[in-house]
Amino acid sequence: MQGSSGSTVTCQWQTWLWRKCKEVATHTVTIDYADRRQDVWHICREHEKEVKKRVQRSLPPPPPQSGGLMPRGSLKAKKMGPGSRKELSRVTTGSSRSTRDGSWTEIERVTDVENDIYREVLEYHDGTVLKSEARLRDHS
Ligand SMILES: [Zn+2]
Repeated sequence: MQGSSGSTVTCQWQTWLWRKCKEVATHTVTIDYADRRQDVWHICREHEKEVKKRVQRSLPPPPPQSGGLMPRGSLKAKKMGPGSRKELSRVTTGSSRSTRDGSWTEIERVTDVENDIYREVLEYHDGTVLKSEARLRDHS
């Protein structure tokens, strides 16, 4: 997974008045919208959060839901190093409810120490899927 580290990509986020962020883009965010559009962002960690917020805000409102729903979370898989207590990889899934419109987002997070990978996949209520990837060392 090494190599191709010669060129540094700068964060693509543009703030108000088109000022550009000067940070190194450590995260790649791919968004597959329900209508088949796709966006790819090369972005710094701070603005990765902004991309997520922006995507969520751009979605249509969710259908009304019933039931007393609580955030759920579960650990799917975990891999430990041989003869050590160090955790090598971990996959967690869960869902989170938006405080803005009450919609649910399914979330899967992968941290892979062996391969230096951090990945987060968010599936929104309308089918939009956002995938965020980074090197683990850039995310922790
Ligand atoms: Zn940035």
